[in-house]
Amino acid sequence: MIITIATGNSHKLLEIQNINPYKNDIILRKIDAKFEPEENGNTFEENAIIKAKSASLIVKDYALADDTGLCVDYLDGAPGLYSARYAPTQEEKIKKILNELNAVPFEKRTARFICNMVLTDKNCNIIYKTSGKIEGYIAESVAGCGGFGYDPIFFVPKYNKTVAELPNGEKNKISHRANALIPMLNFIKDNLI
Ligand code: IMP
Repeated sequence: MIITIATGNSHKLLEIQNINPYKNDIILRKIDAKFEPEENGNTFEENAIIKAKSASLIVKDYALADDTGLCVDYLDGAPGLYSARYAPTQEEKIKKILNELNAVPFEKRTARFICNMVLTDKNCNIIYKTSGKIEGYIAESVAGCGGFGYDPIFFVPKYNKTVAELPNGEKNKISHRANALIPMLNFIKDNLI
């Protein structure tokens, strides 16, 4: 079975493809079109629905969307829904959060990545929804060059490292994305193949 991934983000696509444990049965392919739908939903789930439906409309087939955000408790959940639009560049987004948390002690820097996934069919019907998260802390400075986005400032206590410092492949075992994708792919394997 072939499913189109509703993203224009090559890092996200690669992670989703690498997490997939059913590579022989479920092929997760990129969308062959410029893909930038307006993400004007009020929740991660609504934005994932917008993306999945837009992609299903283009490919006239199944599409799987992922909407992710970083929620920092000290900032009342910001950047949250605005994670992609928090500042013009990723470097500036990270700087902004580090500045906002300047002098905030480590124990108050709790945060999580939240990921919502939605699968739609060729008629843009919603077939299945999942969500996943990972808990951590905002580091005091950037560290590591793996992953993407906010990974260099997202510290995971169990590893004593930021996500960007994790050894190759480790992020995909513990991430918000893996926690949302595995149940989604289990559903697809059990019900749609
Ligand atoms: P979106 O889900 O593509 O809208 O991403 C929202 C924002 O979160 C963007 O700034 C991404 O770079 C960032 N982001 C998405 N997924 C991850 C991740 O796995 N790690 C770190 N940042 C992420």
